[in-house]
Amino acid sequence: MATVEFVEGQHATEQVVAHALWMTTGLSCDGDSVAMTSATNPSLEDIVRGIIPGMPKLVIHHPVIAYENGADFMQAWFDAEEGKLDPFVLLVEGSIPNEEINGEGHWAAMGQDPVTGQPITTNEWVDRLAPKAAAVVAVGTCATYGGIPAMKNNPTGAMGLPDYLGWNWKSNIGVPIVCIPGCPAQPDNMTETILYLAMMLAGHAPLIELDDCLRPKWLFERTVHESCNRAAFYEHGDFATEYGSDYRCLVKLGCKGPVVKCNVPVRGWVNGIGGCPNVGGICMACTMPGFPDKYMPFMDEAANAKLSSNAAKFTYGPILKFFRKQSIELVYDKEPEWRKPGPSLNSGYTPRW
Ligand code: SF4
Ligand code: SF4
Ligand code: SF4
Repeated sequence: MATVEFVEGQHATEQVVAHALWMTTGLSCDGDSVAMTSATNPSLEDIVRGIIPGMPKLVIHHPVIAYENGADFMQAWFDAEEGKLDPFVLLVEGSIPNEEINGEGHWAAMGQDPVTGQPITTNEWVDRLAPKAAAVVAVGTCATYGGIPAMKNNPTGAMGLPDYLGWNWKSNIGVPIVCIPGCPAQPDNMTETILYLAMMLAGHAPLIELDDCLRPKWLFERTVHESCNRAAFYEHGDFATEYGSDYRCLVKLGCKGPVVKCNVPVRGWVNGIGGCPNVGGICMACTMPGFPDKYMPFMDEAANAKLSSNAAKFTYGPILKFFRKQSIELVYDKEPEWRKPGPSLNSGYTPRW
């Protein structure tokens, strides 16, 4: 990625009040917003109440937690457009439709134009606000890469924010689009990234580090397989052939974990608990730019997984498993000789009881 021109600390001030404008009006099911309410590290409540040490005050404008409604709720969007909310972060949930092929209507909109009384499309809000935002965040795989609404042959021309604004787009302080994929995104991945951006805007954190797909690097650098608690069973060639196995590897049932970047197996879902393959569900690759088309049919073993899984099953896997089991039973499941009572004690210690 190109070098950014972010100046660390340029917003540093004790009085920083940042705003987060969260739009759920992409082509969206609102699943990311719902998921975020179960975040624990940090929790949404902790962020809203601003009780995290060092965190600047962050005002979140989000339809799920707002007291205001209707025109009162929309006022923040008009204020941001007029430069009255500075700095602000624009968060978008749901994919961006192509309004050039909307016929005589529109695909997605939020609020209405006070002059014309017409709906203001999601695209228009993004056009108006993105140039003024300190950072733009795409939340969920629909907003990041198009996701389910952007499947082949969809009628809306749906796309992710990077395809809409451009992959090299940067905010007015040099921050690239931040993508938090997942369908829905893992709750803590969302709140942690929001917290990071708030700290960054206050000058307490360096520019967020992203990978080539604009994902926070520290969250998405490992594959599901590398963190899965069933990985040793893959190595042993011990595969589940039907649902319900509480430990065997799920690759033969369609798990795509070996080629998917996601931290859910290691982070869990709610407060460290759960996490797709850890609890018996195949990984369907919901965080990936190629989701869903490139991973279907979901419940078939991937063609490129067959070679390595069959190699593990029919060659080295059973041998590894056998020798490890032998080692455990004969050596490692037993105490060292010198700890055993009786005449064989050889530690030099003579018991006095
Ligand atoms: Fe819903 Fe998934 Fe799209 Fe989020 S990414 S809006 S959870 S379909
Ligand atoms: Fe890898 Fe999936 Fe098997 Fe886990 S269940 S070890 S992620 S293939
Ligand atoms: Fe999505 Fe797979 Fe991660 Fe589960 S483990 S959240 S299915 S990418």
